[in-house]
Amino acid sequence: MHEASLVSALVESLLDLKAREGAKKIVKFQVAMGELSGVDQEAFNMAYEALKGVVEELRDTRMEIIKIPARLRCEECQREFSGDYFSACPECGSYIKTILSGEELELREVELEV
Ligand SMILES: [Zn+2]
Repeated sequence: MHEASLVSALVESLLDLKAREGAKKIVKFQVAMGELSGVDQEAFNMAYEALKGVVEELRDTRMEIIKIPARLRCEECQREFSGDYFSACPECGSYIKTILSGEELELREVELEV
């Protein structure tokens, strides 16, 4: 499962951070999840819960998922719009666009107890 490896990578960097800061526990962390990241949030949650059961450091940790909406910019007329990889520009109908946001999957704020 794709999501399981994403979750373990995230948790690994969390544990790294905790060790680096010499923290007692990880209180809370935020994951920015883009609309276009291709991550299934339910599967992601399930993978996290499963990992939580075996990683003692996560027992009292809260995970917060922040959905990042997709923003695209048309390369023809520079109009910004929301949509996905298959959307045409609502202004000029062009398919040539730049993804401004919505592809991210990353750790944001991490709250540690030191
Ligand atoms: Zn356009």
